[in-house]
Amino acid sequence: MSGFVPVRLNQFVKQYLRNHKGADGDEVRAAVEDALAARRQGVRCACGKPLWVAGSAVAGYGCFTCITGSAEPDGDPEIDEACDGLFFEKDDSEDRIAQVSEIIKNHPHDYRERLEEIGFEWRDDEPDLLYEEEAKEEYVAVPETESQRRLVNFLDTGGPVTRKVLDAYLEERYSETSNLPLIRRYFKQANPNLKAILLKGLADDPTDPDLLDDLSYFSEFDSMLGELIHFYTDACLKETDIERFSLLAQDFHMNTYDQGYDALHELVTLFQSGTKGAVVQQLSETIDDFEGAEDIPF
Ligand SMILES: [Zn+2]
Repeated sequence: MSGFVPVRLNQFVKQYLRNHKGADGDEVRAAVEDALAARRQGVRCACGKPLWVAGSAVAGYGCFTCITGSAEPDGDPEIDEACDGLFFEKDDSEDRIAQVSEIIKNHPHDYRERLEEIGFEWRDDEPDLLYEEEAKEEYVAVPETESQRRLVNFLDTGGPVTRKVLDAYLEERYSETSNLPLIRRYFKQANPNLKAILLKGLADDPTDPDLLDDLSYFSEFDSMLGELIHFYTDACLKETDIERFSLLAQDFHMNTYDQGYDALHELVTLFQSGTKGAVVQQLSETIDDFEGAEDIPF
């Protein structure tokens, strides 16, 4: 891949902090915003070329060539706002389109998230509105069915996770008319009783991809990366159906990568031969092509 790969500002800061333990996130963010503003105002490198914002933030104003000494970027990160639609060279666009349609076909329900994971950004200016809208719904949500009442009662009071409680959760999860805001509220509170339900479900069926997905969502509101890794690894070891294994490995990767874990790398080490080994090897080669940008080189 030649050219820059667009990276969101948040992603960039996160990755930078991961590689530079002592760095101050606010300072890095301010430096990127400063370089972005400079670029918008037409500031250029001393040699006359446009600024490379990602590099300028940490190395002082300069273009890619002057900062790195390399002629052309090759999968190097650039803050998406500075990419000007020059995200990919022409040669790449067909691959990119194929990749996008592949993702939409394979992930019809959550293709937006999947696309974001490979670097797309949705240019709507209403993420906060959406968040507020959700918060409002969650605030007014009340249980409407017997099963929802049982579930909420458990979530509020706790106790042992009985089969009935687990069934109430699963029923709600798979119902076409599920009371999403009601349940989402407990995810956002990182409610320990909700976590107990998920863990009970996984104890019964350790390779259930939906419960693992739920646990991943839960982990967004609780710090439990180690546990999440443990459950996904266990599921990958136990799953015997190779197609399901492949999907689990991809979910594992997608659901932990933003937190700094390289699941495919670990799986390649874990499964060095056999069909599972071939699957993870292939996945890691395909996915690496698109995520090189996250390895910020300074
Ligand atoms: Zn220059």
